[in-house]
Parts: sequence; C-alpha cells; structure tokens
Amino acid sequence: MLLSLHRLDLLKKKSVLLIDKERKNRRDKTFCFWSHRDEAIQDDLHEIISQTWDTVILPGEHASSLGPLRYNHVSSIDLYQSIDKLTLQYGWQRCIGDVSEVHSSSEGSYVMLNEQRISGELVFDSRTPSYKQPQDGQTHIHQSFVGWHISLPDISKAAVPFRFMDFDIDQQGHTQFVYVLPFSDGTALVEVTRFGSEVFKPSEAEALLSEYINRRIGNYTKLGDEQGCIPMCNAPIKEERSSGIVQLGARNYSIKSSTGYAFKNMYLHAACIAENIRKGQHADAFNRQYSDVKRGRFAFYDALLLDILQTQPRSGKPIFEALFKHTDIQRILTFLDEKTHVKEEIAIFSRLPIRPFLKAAWRNIQTSLLFRPMILSLLCIVLGFLPEADALTLQAVNAIIIVGMVAIGIPHGAVDHLLDSGQWNPRGLPFFVVKYLSMAAIMGVVWYAAPTLALIAFLIYSAWHFGQADGKLWSLHSLSSFLWGSSVLLYLLGTHVTESNAILAEMGCASLPFEIPTLGLVPWLLWFVLKGNKAAVLTTFWLTLSYQLPLMQAFALYFIGQHSFTGWKHIKQHLRMSDGAIWMHALPFHAGAWVLLAIFYFLWPYSSVASGESQWGVFFIFIACISLPHALAMQSVYASGLNKQ
Ligand SMILES: Cc1cc2nc3c(=O)[nH]c(=O)nc-3n(C[C@H](O)[C@H](O)[C@H](O)COP(=O)(O)OP(=O)(O)OC[C@H]3O[C@@H](n4cnc5c(N)ncnc54)[C@H](O)[C@@H]3O)c2cc1C
Repeated sequence: MLLSLHRLDLLKKKSVLLIDKERKNRRDKTFCFWSHRDEAIQDDLHEIISQTWDTVILPGEHASSLGPLRYNHVSSIDLYQSIDKLTLQYGWQRCIGDVSEVHSSSEGSYVMLNEQRISGELVFDSRTPSYKQPQDGQTHIHQSFVGWHISLPDISKAAVPFRFMDFDIDQQGHTQFVYVLPFSDGTALVEVTRFGSEVFKPSEAEALLSEYINRRIGNYTKLGDEQGCIPMCNAPIKEERSSGIVQLGARNYSIKSSTGYAFKNMYLHAACIAENIRKGQHADAFNRQYSDVKRGRFAFYDALLLDILQTQPRSGKPIFEALFKHTDIQRILTFLDEKTHVKEEIAIFSRLPIRPFLKAAWRNIQTSLLFRPMILSLLCIVLGFLPEADALTLQAVNAIIIVGMVAIGIPHGAVDHLLDSGQWNPRGLPFFVVKYLSMAAIMGVVWYAAPTLALIAFLIYSAWHFGQADGKLWSLHSLSSFLWGSSVLLYLLGTHVTESNAILAEMGCASLPFEIPTLGLVPWLLWFVLKGNKAAVLTTFWLTLSYQLPLMQAFALYFIGQHSFTGWKHIKQHLRMSDGAIWMHALPFHAGAWVLLAIFYFLWPYSSVASGESQWGVFFIFIACISLPHALAMQSVYASGLNKQ
C-alpha cells in the first residue's frame, strides 16, 4: 500500500505511523505471482522482483513456455527493506505492539494500542483476520508448506528447472506437491505444500523434502527454511467493515481461496486505493464484503475445489495432473486470474475427472438455500394434481408423512439432551428426563383442564419456535421471525378451516372463528421479494399453493420439509456432529416418543375430554406436550448464536 502511495507521490507532508506486532527484518516469506510482460506490476515492482521464469516443467514432465506471461519472485526481505528505506526518507514513526481494536466514528478513525487511542485521518487495517465457522457450502482448509532454501553444486545449477506443482511425492492420503524455484545465484527454493484439513507437521514435510531433493536434484547444502500456512477459506471474515477503515490483504479477501495466491491481488487493490486517494475520492471504496466475494461462477468453482480437497483429498492429484496434461498453462493461469470466458472454462472442466466434481456439485446444490423450497414447491404442485379422494393416494401420502416423521420430524426434537452441554451426559440424564417429562405432563394437564387455553399457548410457542428456525435461516429480526411463524400457522389452519375445526373439536378446543384468504401470505411474498430473499420467496410461494392440499399434507410439508430440516441443520451446526451421529443420539428418545404416543393413542379415547377417536386429535395433543420442552431447549440454542457453550 505504502509503495503504491509513494509511487503516486501522495505521502509528502503526511505523517505516518506503522504498527506491527513484530519487527520485520528477515526473509520469512517468498511471494510469487504471474503477470504479462507488459503489465504495470512488472515495472512498478522491478526493484524487488529478484527472479523471473519464462518456462516451466509441469506435472508429467512436459516443459512448457509461459508465452507472454512471467512467473515472478519477490523475497519478503526485499519488500521489508523497501519500506525501511521509505521510513528513513519520510521520517515515519514505527511502533511494535498489538493493536487490540480498530474503529471509525463520526470524529474519525482510530486504533487502540496498549489501551491508548491513536487517531488518524486514515487507518489501514491488515491485521490477520479470523473467519466465521463455515456454514453449508463453505469450507475452511489450509495450505501448509515447508520450504528449504538450498545451495546447489555446480553440476546441478543449470540443470534444475522451475517446477510448478510437482505431484511426484507420496500423497499420504492428502493432496500434496512440490515447487522448485531455481535462482540465478545457484541456489533454489524447494517447497512441499499440502492442501487440506490437516496441517503439515514439520517433521512430515521435512522427510518428504529430503527424499524429493535427494531423488530429483541430488547433492545440496541447506541454507535456510521457510514455513507457513495460508487459509483456504470461503467462509466470511469476522468483523467485516464497509466504510471508515481501509481493509487490506487477507482482511479484504485478497487471498484466492482455492490457490492461496494473494500478492498480485493485494498490489492491484493498493493501486486502486492510491488512485482514489489521488482523485480525492474515498479510500475505503474498495473494501470487499462477503456478499461481493461469494457471488459469481468463479466463487462456485472455488467452492467445488475446496469441497473436493476437504472431502475427497485423494482426488486432488488426478485432478491437477489432468488439468496440466490437457490444458495449456497460459490458459490455466488466466483461469486462476478469473479472466477466462465460460466457453474456455467448459473446455477446461470437460477434461477433468468428472466424479469428484459431480459429488461436490451435488453437495453444493443440496446445501443451497434454494434447493429445499424448490423441492417443496414441486411436491406441492404434484400433490395438488393427485386425486385427493383416491384411497391409494391417501395411503401413499400418509406413508410418506410417517417416514418423514420417523426420519427427521420427531428425531429433530429428540436431541435436546445434548443441546445444553453438547455431549452425552449419563449422570445428568435422569434429571433431564424428569424435567422434560414434567414439562410435557404440565402441558398435558392444561390440555385436560382448559383445552382452549392450552391451544392458545401451543399456537404461541409453536409460532415462536417455527419463526425462530426460519428467521435464523433467512437472517430475520426476532419480531419478524415471530410474525412469520404466526402467519404460517394461522395460514395453514385458516385456509383449511373445516378440517382444522374438526380436529380442534376432537381435541376439545373452541373452533377457529375466522377463515384466511388463499392469498393471505402475499404481503410476506412482496416483502421477501423487496428484500431479495429468494429462499423465503419460494417458501412463501409453495405455502400459498398448499391451500389446495388437505390440511395434514400441507402441515406435514411445512413441519417436516421446512421446519424439521431447518432445525436439524441448526442443531448440527450447534453440536458439530454428523447427521448419523445426531440421529443415533436421538434414537432412544424418539423411540421413547413413539412408545409414549402409542400409550397416548390407546388411552386418550377413555379420557373424559375426548369426544371421538380421531388419531389426529391425539397426535396433536401429544405433539403439543412434547414440543414445549423442545421449543425451550431450542430457544437457548438460538440465544447462544448456535455456539456450543
Ligand atoms: C510463507 C508465505 C508465503 C506466501 N507466498 C505467497 C506467494 O508466493 N504468492 C502469493 O500470491 N501469496 C503468497 N502468500 C499469501 C499472501 O500473499 C500472504 O498471506 C500475505 O502476506 C497476506 O497479506 P496481509 O497483509 O493480509 O497479511 P500479513 O502479510 O500476514 O501481514 C499482517 C501483518 O499484521 C501484523 N499484525 C497482525 N495482527 C496484528 C495486531 N493485532 N497488531 C499489530 N500488528 C498485527 C502481523 O505481524 C503482520 O506483519 C504467502 C503467505 C505466506 C504466509
């Protein structure tokens, strides 16, 4: 950033304070990047570019010209020294310290250092960012590497070529490869890199390096080493800012998540900021938000590759080898710069192993917020066309509802024992069961004594609970969430008044005094359209179509297809467990719930309030009883922000 400002002569008469946690006085990083021979970066950084390469040996041992491109090398010490020179030239102040906060207010921008507030006309923030917990469709893995700077004996000097991603090492179940960067002074940097969830242990990496150098290069003397770990992450950064402070580097999403390259992006970003300052425009205009970064087809490609590297790490080598075998290196580098056209990208992808990409794409589509509402819309349309009175249809649909309830409907409410502590706690279990059953029993007693009051309470906590899950999914405010939950419940019941009242009568409750028009959710639809919330628009759309289905089908679509799946996703996020593990933990409790339901079912007809023998009346009273403790348990999960205590 400072070099860009200096280049445009914008630093005169400015007082600059440089703060860093540590003194930068050694070669700790190697920055490489590629560029066209005539790109400005080549000229602008020519004093610190210490080596360039025009040809490369690619996997499969084929030598390739980089054409109009060059692969450039900058040693971090040269970069640090160029800043030292500017510091002397301008007489800037430097300070070693840990900045605890960076803020902007109406009075200007400031940082907090050792509890001291330091204000400035402009604050540039490049503190190392931390990332939020990855959600569905997001990945956070690492690019860890260890490199040795070696001196080569005379015979090897001319013979060691520049190698890019050489996979000729033991993969050890990961995706790992070697770079060889030979320098004109007879030294070379040989670096082993792993893409994946597990970070290289130095001993593992060094064993691979030593074996590789002995086998592929020969004699050497080790001069120094370099190690590091770059985040390969497409989750949002914590503490994003849109204005007031200028975000730089990794904090401004400059690291390309699928490659770890950042240097050239940082140079281009700094050049844009400097140009804006020169024109008297806002310096923070190029702050990137997560919403900018996650959009577009390149973000999708990055997401696929990250997913493959995390979940199918053995596929990395065949994918990269196929890439380098079938696609020209210049096109690959242009693709990594996100400057190719769709046609070229299709040509690149068509020559890669298809299965890992299909698997990753399927996972990506499934976890998209639009996937479920699309399926539910289709189901709603199909069910609307089926002959309602047909016995076979009814049986088939009821069977599907039962399967849905067994698979996810009841289980999503049967892990409440884990939600508090996040783990199985046999000691606390008896207390938990007694507390849970007591709450359910209290609700049962209220149903027995004052069914209409119980119904009102049930509707209120259900509306809160349903709204909370959807609200979390779509980032709604808590009041909007409650209003949404209430609207859904009232819509489902109020567009099926005859059926609802028949069940309410069987439950011993007063009947609904109103009917809801079939277009009753249209205000929500318009609001979601205005907000650009596509998933909520689709959900409101299919709920509106559901008025034509029988009440049970419409309710089951929402309860199983929307609410239980959403709740399950949030529980999974909270517990950080797999689907299978959660279901198995839930098993004793949902099996217990079915036993209780069976008891309820057989005993209810003998109770004094039961006027008929409808299964649905019994079923809903049972659901009302067990959902009170569940709604309370989920309330504390949502209040914790889905973080396990
Ligand atoms: C070893 C290594 C090699 C790399 N090689 C390449 C490459 O070849 N090509 C490429 O394109 N990219 C490369 N990268 C990736 C990328 O270029 C770097 O991660 C880049 O340094 C990111 O810049 P940054 O300013 O965001 O962070 P950094 O360079 O990490 O700078 C952040 C600075 O802020 C300081 N700091 C952090 N927190 C505080 C605080 N609270 N208070 C005060 N100071 C603080 C740190 O001490 C550090 O000096 C490499 C990264 C590493 C680690």
